[in-house]
Amino acid sequence: MYSKAMMIEQDLQGRDIQDKRVLAAMEEVDRRLFVPDDLQNHAYEDSPLPIGKSQTVSQPYIVAYMAQVLDIKADDKVLEIGTGCGYNAAILSRLAKEVYSIEIIEWLAELAKINLAQTEYDNIHIRFGDGYQGWPEQAPFDVIELTAAPPKVPQSLKQQLKTGGRLVAPVGTLSQELVLVERLSEQDFSEKVLSMVRFVPMTGQAQQE
Ligand code: SAM
Repeated sequence: MYSKAMMIEQDLQGRDIQDKRVLAAMEEVDRRLFVPDDLQNHAYEDSPLPIGKSQTVSQPYIVAYMAQVLDIKADDKVLEIGTGCGYNAAILSRLAKEVYSIEIIEWLAELAKINLAQTEYDNIHIRFGDGYQGWPEQAPFDVIELTAAPPKVPQSLKQQLKTGGRLVAPVGTLSQELVLVERLSEQDFSEKVLSMVRFVPMTGQAQQE
């Protein structure tokens, strides 16, 4: 069986994950809590796994990679779009002060709450709904992470970043690029393509753009 130590050494440190806080979070969070019973033996393999409703829990490497590029600080307020089973929210919760996460499939939002109730992480807030409009009552955020791919980065989410804030998103339809956006000032944003990726599509209002 592929172990957590193998995941950390081979798939994270063995590639380009060097951020000590990210590695500690990946070590601390038990991915088995977020994986269905029949896939427990595969919990630490470096691949996405089905979680129901045609959705997946992301591959450990990409979870760690996105956290690393976001350079999350212990005082940061983070918004995640696409809670899924709650695994990535759990990782983010070890790096940030508060995590707000939105999931468009109600069954998954409930599953994430059940999964996270098995942990002692009390800084994660989950909401069922379309993440396209973000979480205006809690904005602005230091960090926004999308784990489902919109055709382009929603303006509504960019506007919920603090100045100096970072957003990472898989963007595109047939092929997707992982894009890092930084808010430089009230009006100015920088955008950098990091790599090619494959995520499930962002549904809801993002599809109407
Ligand atoms: N963050 C997850 C994890 O811990 O592995 C990954 C979840 S999966 C790759 C992406 C999730 O985004 C799915 O659960 C999907 O239902 C959700 N999603 C898609 N479009 C959405 C939207 N408009 N608003 C909120 N969630 C959305």
